[in-house]
Parts: sequence; structure tokens; C-alpha cells
Amino acid sequence: MPLDAEVSRQSAYPSRPIRWYLPGMPVALPLALLLSAAVPAAVEARQAAPAPPSETFQAAWSGSRVSPPSGSYAPEALQADLKRLLERGAGLVRIAGQGVSSEGRPILVLAAGSGPEKVLLWSQMHGDEPTATCALVDLLSHLVATRTDPATEQLLSRLTLLVLPMLNPDGAVRNDRRNAQGIDINRDAVELQTPEGRFLKGVRDRFAPAAGFNLHNQGALVTAGPGGPQSALAVLAVPGAESEADGPAVARKKGLAAVMARAAEPFGPGRVARYDMSYTQRAFGDSMSRWGTPTVLLETGGWDGPGEAERLVRLNFTVLLSALHALARGKEALAAPAYDLLPFNVRGRLVDLVLRDATVHGGRGLPPFHADVAFVRARAFAGEAQRLAATAVTGVGDLDHLLGLTEVDAAGLVVAPAPPGGAPAWEKTFAGLVARGLAKDDSLLLDEAGLARESRSWAAGGVVTAWSAVDLVLLRRTEKGLVVEGFVRDGVRVK
Ligand SMILES: [Zn+2]
Repeated sequence: MPLDAEVSRQSAYPSRPIRWYLPGMPVALPLALLLSAAVPAAVEARQAAPAPPSETFQAAWSGSRVSPPSGSYAPEALQADLKRLLERGAGLVRIAGQGVSSEGRPILVLAAGSGPEKVLLWSQMHGDEPTATCALVDLLSHLVATRTDPATEQLLSRLTLLVLPMLNPDGAVRNDRRNAQGIDINRDAVELQTPEGRFLKGVRDRFAPAAGFNLHNQGALVTAGPGGPQSALAVLAVPGAESEADGPAVARKKGLAAVMARAAEPFGPGRVARYDMSYTQRAFGDSMSRWGTPTVLLETGGWDGPGEAERLVRLNFTVLLSALHALARGKEALAAPAYDLLPFNVRGRLVDLVLRDATVHGGRGLPPFHADVAFVRARAFAGEAQRLAATAVTGVGDLDHLLGLTEVDAAGLVVAPAPPGGAPAWEKTFAGLVARGLAKDDSLLLDEAGLARESRSWAAGGVVTAWSAVDLVLLRRTEKGLVVEGFVRDGVRVK
């Protein structure tokens, strides 16, 4: 195809084709290279060079990263960073396609590399799933920064990367899974009623990629296996049919997934799970596989602790680069057997906080009882299943089956609903109790019946029961009375 090729494609409005400009895309170059007698030996020699270990990418991220510390891009900020990347990477990174969202926001596909195998990576088709978008921008930045390194040269001579960092900018603006029509783009692969879905299909048809990476967030409260830790990533060799026969496409998908799991292992041992989902015809990953682009699903989970968003971006960056290097060497299928050994993703086990074995005053004035209490916090991007409007108690009773990201041994503690309104509300409540002779210094001078009665009153209807958004006051019984030991506010234990 000549330079400056223009190809009509379906766009936001099917009746109005847009043009695809491919400025500077050296399409003729790979063919010339392949025809050159000297090159096969050189390629062979490069193939023999081992892929860099994932530690290399993990270490390189901070030097290459341009994505924001929040781990999430506003569409305009993304456009600005992509523009800068195009300038920095002139001659390497170029625009391979441009679509338009339902509400007229641009959707860019950038290309990097000149290799014969095209690889499509798309992210944020769900507007509230931003982690891989950041990783893709950082990945392009890394390729630009290391463009003369032998490993990057090899990658870009074997592969042409097609990077679509944000398919659903309208959803991103609203922090919403769906597009502006209210449609889940990832269930629109058959009907193609969304301009975003049509654009993605057009990119697939235009380039016929030899591999696809479908990049999502699955929410934080998932474990890798029934007894495993929090799942930082889940991978799936996305099926292209109800029943898919083994062959090169399956080996490629499983192998890429396994390479990503292996690449994460040094940093988060046991934190990669196998995503659990059967063939879904109307989903895009499944359809890509069906259309001839073997596709891997990567679902970012959680990795609790300070700097979580950045840690997850960095991990995405690391595993994606590792997978691409394996693909560039044609080695990815060797890892396929390890895919079947990955633990499955488990939902419903992990919560944010569990108080173990507390004495509970539930807020309804009933006698106290022994129980565990579990909390799940509201999150900005939590995945469909776990998105709460507000932090809530999610269980009371014997919760042995749950694992808290934070576990508090509450044996010996008495818990009761706290007054709504945080610390100032508690201070006011406490001062009221002091004035009535029911508290002194830091202690409540209340027996069990008194605590049941008073807490019911100050909690103003807040109760310790599933799906109620309530804070707790934690009290310890002493000779002086019930000493305030701390609080649970917004699902977090505080002093
Ligand atoms: Zn998603």
C-alpha cells in the first residue's frame, strides 16, 4: 500500500465514511526486508537473543512513564499526551486510524513498528476501566525512549503494534462502563449499534491483526484461587467458539496469557488468576477470536496498599511488554501448558475489612451478640459487580468464608453504630453523654442495656446489618467503663 493511503471506513455515522490517513506508515518496508537475502540470517540471530526478563520492564517503567499518578486519564489529557508522543516518536509512532465517539470525541489508534505481524491492543471500551490505558501510553513512551536498543529494534521489526488506548471516551468522562447511548460496547460486537464498536471492528478488518489484547479492569475484590491472595491481574485466552479445537490460535492465546502471568510472578507471587468466562458471541474479545484475531483478555484487579493505581499500571506495562517480546520471537506458544495451571478468579470471598469476633450492638436496641462484621468500600472504578454507591457493611455473623484486605481481631471489643457525620458528630455525642453523667474522661459509663439504648438513639437509624452504610465506634471494656478504642469510618479502621 502506498504512503498516504486513504481507506474509507465505517464511522460514527454509517452513511458518512471517514478517511484513514496513514502518514509515514512504511508499509513497503517489511516486504523489502523479507525479500532481502541478507535479512533472514539477521532475523535468526535476533530470534536467538532471549527476551528481556520482566524485571527489566518493571525497572524501566518509572523512566518511561508519562501517565498520570491517578492511574486514570481524562480524554483531553490523553489526547495531549498522545500528541506529545507523536512528536517525540516522529518516524516511529504514527496515527493509524481515527474514529469518533457517539458524542464526537476523537478515538485514536497509534501504530508503532514495521513488522509483518500486526498486534491490536485496545483499552477502556468500558469508560470506568482506565488502568491499561495508562500502561499503553507508557509502553509507547518506552518504545520511543528505547528505539535504538536491540530488544526494542527487534520487537518493532517483527511486530506492528496498533494501540487504541481509549475506545470509550464518552464513558470515561462520566466514569461509566457504557457509551453515551447507554450501551455496553463489549456486548455490541454482533449488532454494531455503537460508533465505537463499529470503529473497533473496522480497525480489525482493516489490519487483520495476528493477535489481540482486550484490556479491562475487573474490580479489586477478587482472589487468585479460593485460598489465594488478591488478584492483581486475571487473564483469559478468549474463546472464538462454543467449543474450540486446539491449534495454533489457541496455543497463541494461552501462551500469551501464560507469559503475562509468568512476567508478573516476581513482583506479585500468586497474584495472577485465570478469568472465568465462557464463550459470549456478542462480546468483542470472543468475536475478535472468531474473526481470526486470537485475543487475550487482561483484567486488572487490585493490589492493596499505598500507590495501588500506579503499581497496577506498572504491572500492566511489564506484562504487556513481556508478552509482546515473546510474540516477536515467536516463542509465546511454548508457555501455553502453564495457562491451564493458573488458579481461577474467585469472586465473593474478598472484602475490604473484617472485624473478627466482636461483641455487636446492632443499633436496633437488641441484646448484644458475637459476630464478625465485613465492610466493602465504594470505589471509583470497581467493576460492574462490586460498585457500591457508598461504603457498606456487607455481612454480619460467622464470616469465616471471607478474607478481609484488612483483618481486625475484635475479640474483647464492643462495636456499635457511630453517629453519622464522622469525628465532629462523635465529639458532640460524647459531650452530650458527659453532660448527662453517662461519660467521663474517655470512657462511657454505660452497661450493656444502656449502650444498646444510647447507641440506638445517637445512630439515628444507622444499623449494623448487610447493605447499610454505617460507621462504627469500637469500645473496650475496662474497669473504668467502655473506653473508646477507635472507629470504622468509610470502611477503614481509624483511631
Ligand atoms: Zn471491562
